[in-house]
Amino acid sequence: MLREIRPPLAGGRCDRRVTWSPSLTLVPTRACFNACGYCSFRRSPEPEAPLTDALSDASAAAALVARPAATEVLLLSGEVAPGSPWRAAWFARLLALSRQVLRAGRLPHTNAGPLALREMAALGRLNPSMGLMLEGLGPALEPWHRQAPSKRLEVRLGQLVQAGRLGLPFTTGLLLGLGESRADRLVALELLAHLQRRWGHLQEVILQPWRPHGQAAVPLSAAEQADLLETISAARQLLPPEVHLQLPPNLWPLDTLPQALDAGIDDLGGIDSHDVINPAYGQPTPPALAQRLAAAGWLLEPRLCVHEAWLPWLPLALRRQAAVLQRRLRLKVAHSC
Ligand code: SF4
Repeated sequence: MLREIRPPLAGGRCDRRVTWSPSLTLVPTRACFNACGYCSFRRSPEPEAPLTDALSDASAAAALVARPAATEVLLLSGEVAPGSPWRAAWFARLLALSRQVLRAGRLPHTNAGPLALREMAALGRLNPSMGLMLEGLGPALEPWHRQAPSKRLEVRLGQLVQAGRLGLPFTTGLLLGLGESRADRLVALELLAHLQRRWGHLQEVILQPWRPHGQAAVPLSAAEQADLLETISAARQLLPPEVHLQLPPNLWPLDTLPQALDAGIDDLGGIDSHDVINPAYGQPTPPALAQRLAAAGWLLEPRLCVHEAWLPWLPLALRRQAAVLQRRLRLKVAHSC
């Protein structure tokens, strides 16, 4: 069912204010039929039993209890191919986990790859926001995605259009540093800007630096930071003002994070105690972040997975649950400039 689409009010961003979402990541399965060249998250699915690692209700419940302050629960899943006999069971787990998260008084935000129209619509009734990275475009990405049919540009753009038609508040983003050119980045940002002007559903665009995997983190060099700062500034100029620009704070040196904010970042995304995609890159604690940013004149504020301007888009039950959690977050705001 299509809902009426009303673009959120511009001006949702405040100067010198940066947001983050207290988050817990649950992994329904790491089995994934894609094999992206940079991925250390996936495991190869066994042909006869691809979902052997499927997250149980009991494990999900234990994780929810262990992280009571997480208002957002990111359901981050490996993918089962469309048409696979295992697709229905995989999708049923996503629905069941979304319902479990809601029953626990939290808000699910699912990122599980491309979805059929009816799948996305069904998840959209349970998830106040969902996500799918555009990742990028251009010849440099082809070798990374040679064995990842889900990552074809037309598939990703089709998903963003589908989410727009359904009126779902949506998160997307670019993975930066895979060899793409500056021109490739600008074209990708212009495509996102075009989608936003048409549908108004892109609540945030993640500008995620690609980092090498290994036992130890490899911090961004000064030259890499300068290159990314230029892209952040370009994104701020190209994307409509209501689109939040997000940077994962564990992938950027804390000391120079204020420079990224000055360039246009206004959101630090969902922060769990660790990063399941980049486990070597430790998350800064919110108090440490708040302290560092306050020293540079920035106020760090918690938010829900769905940004405030998109709350009126939600079905009534989700809007009510979001309102309860938003009041709770506001009561907890203790940091100030
Ligand atoms: S689609 Fe995601 S989980 Fe699957 S291989 Fe690519 S990056 Fe990894």
